[in-house]
Amino acid sequence: RRAAYARLRDVAPVTKDGHRVTVMVNAGLRDDVGALDVTGADGIGLFRTEFQFLVSATLPQRERQQRLYREVLDVAGDRPVIFRTVDIGGDKALPYLAQQDGDEENPAMGWRALRLALERNGLMKAQARALLDAAAGRTLNVMFPMVSEAWEFAEARALFEQQRVWLASRNRRMPIEIRYGAMLEVPSLAYQLDLLLPQVDFLSIGTNDLTQFLFAADRANPKLAERYDWLSASILRFIASVVEPARAAGVPVAVCGEMGGRPLEALALIGIGIDRLSITPAAVGPIKAMVRSMDYQAVAAEMRRLLADPPRDMRGALSAWAQAQGV
Ligand code: PEP
Ligand code: MG
Repeated sequence: RRAAYARLRDVAPVTKDGHRVTVMVNAGLRDDVGALDVTGADGIGLFRTEFQFLVSATLPQRERQQRLYREVLDVAGDRPVIFRTVDIGGDKALPYLAQQDGDEENPAMGWRALRLALERNGLMKAQARALLDAAAGRTLNVMFPMVSEAWEFAEARALFEQQRVWLASRNRRMPIEIRYGAMLEVPSLAYQLDLLLPQVDFLSIGTNDLTQFLFAADRANPKLAERYDWLSASILRFIASVVEPARAAGVPVAVCGEMGGRPLEALALIGIGIDRLSITPAAVGPIKAMVRSMDYQAVAAEMRRLLADPPRDMRGALSAWAQAQGV
């Protein structure tokens, strides 16, 4: 099996009826980037920049951040890398950052990610400069985590633009293009798509947090791990409801949560119109194999049928259909 997946390294994920799916990897540390060459992925769809902060005993200064980002871009070459600004706070607390005034009762829903970064904006300014400098002469893709309302995205983007203007005024070489994206992982943002879509260059759905917030089910609680299925009408309908207006606005939408790395889930996602996945490197082979065995039009029709009248056991129904189709 491993050998079979290795053979898929240089083969594009295209369905039997010619629909190209973009398959990228999630990464966070310098060593993860080697996965690009090992798997033949299309790029890094989620680079979790907080990992460098989490493994460090002291706050990584701008130069250290910049060095990491440049190394990652060097290895990636022509393949895109989407840098997510730090998702710290809450359960990813940093001992060297006096960030919490007392314990939070619900850290996942607490003062984390963009909420923290917009208030402690010295941290985000330093990261913006590190990213802008590292991507000099190239395209910089940056996305913000835990955006809950459209104005938060606007503020974060404006902060980056201010840093760009400042650096440019000092004759620093800048990226040739900057693309700004939002993670959609807090359900409230889906109800402001009319405000958000005109401002963003891309969206990425974080199904790990999205599932947690949609079902009100702690993603870290083992008692709940089996209770709600990613293949549920709620999640799939939610994602479909984002895909449609985004497509109309010409904004690409990816899924970067763990859901996309599971073949049956990926099949369902592709069927509802997701054509970009960013997944754990080990899943690239199996997902490529699945994509190459599917017929996009047939899956899209089946997903329309299942979502119009959802069976209680969506997983069982989709799995039986896929088997009958030879997927
Ligand atoms: C997610 O929430 O789905 C996601 C991709 O981000 P993280 O797992 O880092 O919260
Ligand atoms: Mg998340």
